[in-house]
Formats: sequence, C-alpha cells, structure tokens
Amino acid sequence: MHDVVIIGSGPAGLTAAIYAARANLNPLVFTGMERGGQVTLTSDLENYPGFPEGLGGFDMYQRFEQQAMRFGAEMIYEVVTKVELQGDSKNVYTASETYSSKTVIIATGSTPRRLGVSGEDRLIGKGVSYCATCDGFFFTGKHVAVIGGGNSALDEGLFLTRYADKVTIIHRRDRLRADAILQERAKKNKKVHFLFDTIVEEIIGEESLNHLRLKNLKTEAVDSFQVDGVFIFIGHKPNTDLFVGQIDLDAGNYIVTDRRMHTNQSGVFACGDVQDAIYRQAVTAAGTGCIAAIEAEKYIAEHEGRAYPESRK
Ligand SMILES: Cc1cc2nc3c(=O)[nH]c(=O)nc-3n(C[C@H](O)[C@H](O)[C@H](O)COP(=O)(O)OP(=O)(O)OC[C@H]3O[C@@H](n4cnc5c(N)ncnc54)[C@H](O)[C@@H]3O)c2cc1C
Repeated sequence: MHDVVIIGSGPAGLTAAIYAARANLNPLVFTGMERGGQVTLTSDLENYPGFPEGLGGFDMYQRFEQQAMRFGAEMIYEVVTKVELQGDSKNVYTASETYSSKTVIIATGSTPRRLGVSGEDRLIGKGVSYCATCDGFFFTGKHVAVIGGGNSALDEGLFLTRYADKVTIIHRRDRLRADAILQERAKKNKKVHFLFDTIVEEIIGEESLNHLRLKNLKTEAVDSFQVDGVFIFIGHKPNTDLFVGQIDLDAGNYIVTDRRMHTNQSGVFACGDVQDAIYRQAVTAAGTGCIAAIEAEKYIAEHEGRAYPESRK
C-alpha cells in the first residue's frame, strides 16, 4: 500500500510530488502521455517567479521532475486507465498493473480545445496561443486575431488590447455569445475589430505564423488574413473522464474542491487546472499542488494517529 499516488506530471502534480517526497511519503507519480503537462507546449514562460530571463517549458518540466526525484518521488511513465477512489484503500490501474494507495492526488490538468485546422499544432508557441496572460506580452504593438465569440474570447481579447495595436475577433456566427457588458466594452474599444460568419481554414507560416486562410460562411469567399498572432478561445476540456461518477464535478466538468484541495471523496485531493477554470497558470497549479500534498500528509497522519503540527491543522 502506497501513501500517495499522484496522477499527472504538470506543475501541479510535480509540485505535489516535491512536497509529498520531502514529507517522506515516497509518492508515485503517473506521468500520462504529456510528461510535464501543458507547459511543455510553450518555448518560453516569462511569468514564473524566480526565472527573470524566462524559462523553456520543457526545461521547467525537467527541473520539477529532478527536484521531485531528488527527494524520493518515483516516476511511472504510464497512463492511468481506471481508478477506484472509495474507501481507505484506493486503487489506480494502468494497462499493466494495479496500485493501492491511502491517498490520491489528481493533477490531470485540462486541454485547450483546438480548432483542428492544418498548421495549428505545428505553430503553437510560434504565433498560435491559447493563453493571453501567458503570451500577450510577445505581441506588443502587433496585430492579433482572437478566435471565438464567448465570454473568454471577448475577455481575453480585451486584455490583449493592453499589448496589441489591433485585435480582430473572428467568430463563425453572425452574433457573439458573450455577456452584453463584455460585448459593449469590446465594441467601444477602438483597437477591437470583428469578422463575423467567418472560420479559420488554415494557419500558415514556416518558422512562425504568417497569415490565416479564412472563409466567409455566407459568401463562401476565401481570403488570406495577415496577423502576427492568433489566440484560440473556444473552451477548455478538463481531463476528468476517469473520475465521472466517483467524485463531484461542476457543470463544466471541473473537479469540485474546497480551499484545501479536498474533493468530496475522503483521501482524494485535486490540484491545478483540473479544478481551476479561472486562473490556469503554472504558478497557481504549483501552489495548489503544494496544498494538496500537505493535506494528503495531514490526512494520513490523522488516520494513523501520527503527530502533526498543530499550526497546520
Ligand atoms: C501553449 C500554452 C502556453 C502556456 N504558457 C504559460 C505561461 O507562459 N505561463 C503560465 O503560467 N502558464 C502557461 N500556460 C498554462 C499552464 O501550462 C497550465 O496552467 C499548467 O500546465 C497547468 O498545470 P497542471 O499540472 O494543472 O496540468 P497540465 O499541465 O495540464 O498537466 C496535466 C498532466 O496530467 C497528465 N494526465 C492526464 N490524464 C492522465 C491519465 N489518465 N493518467 C496519467 N496522467 C494523466 C498529463 O500527461 C499531464 O502530465 C500555458 C498553456 C499552454 C497550453
């Protein structure tokens, strides 16, 4: 029986691993298919504290992993295929083995929804982005397109006007879905322009994004549209399919936690983007990973009558 099993190897899972390992809980970390998580999709993180020159996403993953392993975390480079989270002994399955644990920390993150057009995957971090807070700064004085018509597209589009000279919101319908107040703000902002009834058919560029191929759905006209960056805000999908029916999810399928990262299932904690539809940052994921690991340590201590610092109860 293990003390702590952590599902996910992004900033949340690996920070939980560092804390659990330093508490001598010998955590097992299941990395899943995307070792290091979403940060490995970006070549440059400039907002993670402690790295004034910025840090590559893959470099960040390797540093997190080395730090966790230094204190005794064990990495298992497999995908978790099934979980049983009820009771005092939780079971976690991979294609080849079953592991039992007193606690489980879920850090399976989320996946930004992709447009699914040619050029998109290849140009991520080279003009294609899913995060204005992360990448807006790189487009200071430039022209960017925002894809989507909901609240996040308008909200993030307005945020981008702090940096970009021009923000064109491209939406496939003839009207926006966003709240009226956001629509009003966007329409009043001189930097914001709109293209309705329009879809992106292809994202084109060699080393970096050069232009988009757009199609007007009413006229069928196809045009090339020059932009420096494209921000895609058509939703995020939290990676929670494994947990349906076992722990409480909210209407957007994010795991419901309290401020101590407890789920409704005792001994099961969740951290990072899988429980956070709002901030979705490496540093917030790491912060909640720390909380989840401290809470798992406390849970085990309480269940086994071990001493635990009063100040942390
Ligand atoms: C292109 C891009 C650029 C970004 N840039 C920045 C930035 O500059 N600054 C910033 O702060 N944030 C940035 N972000 C956001 C940041 O990457 C995320 O907020 C952060 O990675 C969330 O961490 P997480 O650990 O919660 O989840 P994730 O990073 O999503 O990691 C999830 C982990 O769970 C694993 N997993 C999923 N399912 C399973 C399973 N069944 N079994 C085992 N493992 C599983 C995956 O393999 C992965 O390791 C960016 C995101 C993207 C997409």
